[in-house]
Amino acid sequence: MKAAIGGAAGLMLGAQRAFGAQAGAIRPEAEPLGNDLFLIRIPGEANVVAQTSSAGVLLVDGESAQSIGALTGILSRLPGGGEVHTLFNTHWHPEQTGLNEQVGKAGKTIIAHENTRLWLTTDVKWPWNGRQFKRLPKIAQPNKTFYTNGKLDSGIQYGYISDAAHTDGDLYVYFPQQNVLAVGDVLSNQGWPVVDWVTGGWIGGIVGGLQRISTIGNDKTVIVPGRGPVMTIADLKTQYDMYGAIYDRLSKLLNSGRGPTEAVEAKPAKEFEAKMGNPDEFVRRAFESLWAYVTPDA
Ligand SMILES: [Zn+2]
Repeated sequence: MKAAIGGAAGLMLGAQRAFGAQAGAIRPEAEPLGNDLFLIRIPGEANVVAQTSSAGVLLVDGESAQSIGALTGILSRLPGGGEVHTLFNTHWHPEQTGLNEQVGKAGKTIIAHENTRLWLTTDVKWPWNGRQFKRLPKIAQPNKTFYTNGKLDSGIQYGYISDAAHTDGDLYVYFPQQNVLAVGDVLSNQGWPVVDWVTGGWIGGIVGGLQRISTIGNDKTVIVPGRGPVMTIADLKTQYDMYGAIYDRLSKLLNSGRGPTEAVEAKPAKEFEAKMGNPDEFVRRAFESLWAYVTPDA
């Protein structure tokens, strides 16, 4: 049991070795986060956290529809794995809600913030790339929603990240026994995140959301981002500082009457490019999100 948990530092090293390797290298399909808790990372897909118990499997997020076969295969091979009894949707995106229909049809519990349920009852279109999202059938929509926070009988805590970091329905799930915090796409450890301002996300919300989640656990908490390897509180603080700097720069550009293209040309994320990748798309979306936030009727 101690070996399985191994402490946050050991876990981080293990994670970096396993996932920082070249493409094609063998990596575990489920990385232990505790004796009954696992991180599942299918290439190209979002992170999933699975907790096994005699009642079956609890999941935080359910991959996109195209990968649910791979996901259920991995779940069936987990030590103590079984049928999914509870599925959390950290937000409404299809990369998180692919398993919803199967879980709903089985009569099991799908927990989400009420805003996430509402987005899943309507069609959504992203103007920046034309991507369209069809509403989910009723059976696939979350069947247990909340507004502020909640706790399961097993002690697992969940709550609303009300800053609208990624969408206006973001939630976290905290496993106090294992000291693991899953936060969905509010945090990314694999490139720049999408700033989905169509459904409420904005750059100021990223800053506020990271501040909020840094107060949930303690300095040993292992944080599972929406994508990429697990992170420490120190990693989270580094990202908080980065988004804070970008937010300040974009706010100044907005206040001096600049537009999105000028914001991109001003290179407000220059010193972070080496680590995070080309920021242009992120900067444009983040600037638009600021625009949408300060002038909601524009
Ligand atoms: Zn997302």
